[in-house]
Amino acid sequence: MKRVIKLRFEIQVDVSKCIGCGQCVSACINEVYELVGGKSVPKRPENCVYCRACIVKCPVNAIKITARDIHAPFARFYEK
Ligand code: SF4
Ligand code: SF4
Repeated sequence: MKRVIKLRFEIQVDVSKCIGCGQCVSACINEVYELVGGKSVPKRPENCVYCRACIVKCPVNAIKITARDIHAPFARFYEK
């Protein structure tokens, strides 16, 4: 039987740090983020593939992404 491992990612933006620069919006090829009221909002977290481009680009380290998985033991490999 074929087993499919499906990962989901919980994306948190610390709005107290976010300066609304839009770097995460342009870095994410999967269009996860939108700027709303000058802050980044992860509108489509289901699109995330954990490439980490947004984390690397954010100048104030405001983004945290955590794996939420049907196979929970793997989650720790994806925590920042
Ligand atoms: S980790 Fe990659 S796919 Fe996920 S939100 Fe960041 S840039 Fe987008
Ligand atoms: S890159 Fe960081 S500071 Fe810039 S909009 Fe995204 S979360 Fe905010």
